[in-house]
Amino acid sequence: MPAKSSINDRVLDHVQALHAYVPGKQPQGADWIKLNTNENPYPPSPAVVQALANLSGDQFRKYPSPVSGELRKAFAASVGLPNEEWAFVGNGSDEILNLLMRLFCDSERCGGYMVPSYSLYPVLLSIQNAKQIAVRYDGSFELPIDDVVDCEANIFFLTSPNAPTGVGIPTDTIRNLAAAFEGVLVVDEAYGAFARENALSLVEEFPNLCVTRTLSKSHSLAGMRIGVLLGNPKIVQLLDKVRDSYNVNVVSQAAGLAALSDPEYYNGLVEKIVTTRDKYLTQWQTAGWKAYTSESNFLFVQPANFTGTTGSKVALSLFDFLREHKILVRYFGNDPLTDSYLRISVGSDLEMLTLSETIDQWLKSV
Ligand code: PMP
Repeated sequence: MPAKSSINDRVLDHVQALHAYVPGKQPQGADWIKLNTNENPYPPSPAVVQALANLSGDQFRKYPSPVSGELRKAFAASVGLPNEEWAFVGNGSDEILNLLMRLFCDSERCGGYMVPSYSLYPVLLSIQNAKQIAVRYDGSFELPIDDVVDCEANIFFLTSPNAPTGVGIPTDTIRNLAAAFEGVLVVDEAYGAFARENALSLVEEFPNLCVTRTLSKSHSLAGMRIGVLLGNPKIVQLLDKVRDSYNVNVVSQAAGLAALSDPEYYNGLVEKIVTTRDKYLTQWQTAGWKAYTSESNFLFVQPANFTGTTGSKVALSLFDFLREHKILVRYFGNDPLTDSYLRISVGSDLEMLTLSETIDQWLKSV
């Protein structure tokens, strides 16, 4: 019998060549302080826990609402958009980003994104075998509007506040870009709840602009996988053409709806996280560390050792020291703008205190 060809010979060339997205580590066990994936350190609203307890087996037997109808309504209402036609709910905002690539990108129609920003965009574009263009930030992290306009992408992904820096893009800057840019402009506001400004007011103004948000960070529901796109009904209708029939499960829909019913609770969490964030930003800046002013739930800091030396070796030394002490943060070593920094998610007061004490130990040890 002739030898069968291997699976590797059958897989599509572009899939063979691509490098999968690398998410932050998710160690099991309660003994880790996890400051590496920007999860919320506080629990979701009691209304969420109650809503899940109220679910019956009969609801699991049946398929969920294919369009997450109630949740679309609640999302649109929560940001003051006219009705549910302006909201699309996804299995995390990552799913929505993926669906947008499916709609707008191929070997001729280019997807664009800023670098450094969310490293999932190039991976999704590569999965789609799409043309892609990266527009670079410089160290100021001010948006180079003309470069974005000139890149002629069919769709452009703008992260605001940016990851991993936490730097927010002023609404006026995004308005100027939306007015000049010919393609679809996606403002990825995964961290928008922690920011001073957002682009939601531009959604009705510009049919080519949409905003993606998530309940993973501000609403303590990363495990539930609930994201939303707020945009012109035309974009929502297109997304409905290419999504899975039942893309958001019944448990997540119930959890999301309950979360949106308790804005006071979540405003309180956001306020607490912002206060903690700004306290540690000041503390590290006072110690002489460079750190970007963050509008998100993490800080991007350039550690200096006791001699004041900075650089990738110093950042990695602290990263390793923290990991040995069961504290996880994130290191992005693949870009000169990020390789001397660490991204630290804002944790609870106790977690941040332990982090701070462990950094002091590191300073004495190196
Ligand atoms: N956008 C950005 C910028 C992110 O950092 C993340 C989280 N990794 C997401 C989108 C995706 O969030 P989720 O899929 O949990 O909604």
